[in-house]
Amino acid sequence: PTILAIESSCDDTSAAVVRDGVVLSNVTAAQAVHVEYGGVVPEFASRAHQRNIVPTVDVALRRAAVAAREVDAVAFTRGPGLIGSLMVGVSFAKAFALARNIPLIEVDHMQAHVLAHFAEDPKPEFPYLCLTVSGGHTQLVVVHAPLEQEIIGRTIDDAAGEAFDKSGKLLGLPYPAGPELDRLARLGTPVLRFAQPDPGDLNFSFSGLKTSVLYTLQKENKRDPAYVSQHLNDICASIQDAIVTTLMQKLIAAAEQTGLSRIALAGGVSANSELRRRLVSEGQARGWNTYVPRIEYCTDNAAMIGITATFKYDLGVFTDQSVAPSARL
Ligand code: ATP
Ligand code: FE
Repeated sequence: PTILAIESSCDDTSAAVVRDGVVLSNVTAAQAVHVEYGGVVPEFASRAHQRNIVPTVDVALRRAAVAAREVDAVAFTRGPGLIGSLMVGVSFAKAFALARNIPLIEVDHMQAHVLAHFAEDPKPEFPYLCLTVSGGHTQLVVVHAPLEQEIIGRTIDDAAGEAFDKSGKLLGLPYPAGPELDRLARLGTPVLRFAQPDPGDLNFSFSGLKTSVLYTLQKENKRDPAYVSQHLNDICASIQDAIVTTLMQKLIAAAEQTGLSRIALAGGVSANSELRRRLVSEGQARGWNTYVPRIEYCTDNAAMIGITATFKYDLGVFTDQSVAPSARL
């Protein structure tokens, strides 16, 4: 089938065309407005989606060289996400499906992150273990089948992406701080140790990290007001090392517990260079087959929505016009 997919859960408006599981186009309009506020402002996000959605879909269809009448089904993110943002994508998809008289397919944003691997080769076989690390989630997922995903570990407070963003904000880095922190960390050495509580099991806790970073900065700043600017790269490297070490420890424990050796990363934080590096080196040492999507498919994108919808289309799982978005799906 030829599927038009829409993703609008947070601050990126994205549209993709996926034909028989092959991504023909994937177009994302990022919203610059949030940078000056140091975070996503929900009200601005939904307004920008409203402005961007039609042109973004137009470009996606044009790049795919697919006409609107050739689309067999329209897929959209139902949740989780910001309700006002989701509403724009859901409404657009409903209207498109109604006008064209084609089926509608709702997609769970987190399931889609986990299935982003099927947007390119090599594709993992089932079952595989996926570490999803994004701005709002940190999950260890056993993927038995496309729509059979079992969460075996999750964060009890902040997500890994939040840990990057909130720690980076303390250092004065622009929102979202993750990519910039990654860049600066490559210039530094992880010499500082930050406290991180371990909730045990396969669960994560990241909220203590930013507190520990805050206290360290306050203490050092009192001694030397130039501390942060002079040691910025080392501080970034230390924060990154703390987060990545925790992620890898839990991932290794999950691989051992489940006996799985097909190991995948998903979500925006899988763009992190240190996490990618350690997954590959740990994977070589342990004989894992590792899967890391290219960065375009790690962060929010409609291609992963179209890929997930293709699995649903093949199983005959459709949605009717009464559907409403769900912020906490
Ligand atoms: P969710 O999917 O949970 O709803 P989201 O869609 O907002 O959240 P993503 O777009 O998947 O999240 O990821 C965004 C997060 O990834 C941000 O927290 C950002 O800082 C982080 N991130 C992106 N690139 C990097 C990087 N190179 N290093 C660390 N973090 C990064
Ligand atoms: Fe996401």
